[in-house]
Amino acid sequence: MTLIRCYQCNKKISPDAVACPKCGAPQQGEIAEKKKEGKRKADQTAGWVGLGCGVIALIIVGSCIAHFSGQASSPSPPRRPLSEVSTEELKRDESKLDDYTTDELLDEIDRIDRKHGW
Ligand SMILES: [Zn+2]
Repeated sequence: MTLIRCYQCNKKISPDAVACPKCGAPQQGEIAEKKKEGKRKADQTAGWVGLGCGVIALIIVGSCIAHFSGQASSPSPPRRPLSEVSTEELKRDESKLDDYTTDELLDEIDRIDRKHGW
């Protein structure tokens, strides 16, 4: 067992001692109080961390909902089949490509290749 030092007279005493045998300064109460205080601080920190995580999660969820509902409500032009969109049009406005999936784009590239006999 590791001996502790009395905070008053600095004598080595048992950590289980309720009071210092030399000067009579209360020990257990002091230590127990400090432990309790430390635990309370740790609990508080955990609480704040939890709260922070909750707030961050809320912000993320909120921005996701805003993002998706914004997308849904914004009028998007009716999507035409890729074969009807001319290459010039796509060159002018590359954002049109975002409307199509990679598979559709690859199919279209195949179609153009076949048309040109490549
Ligand atoms: Zn003492």
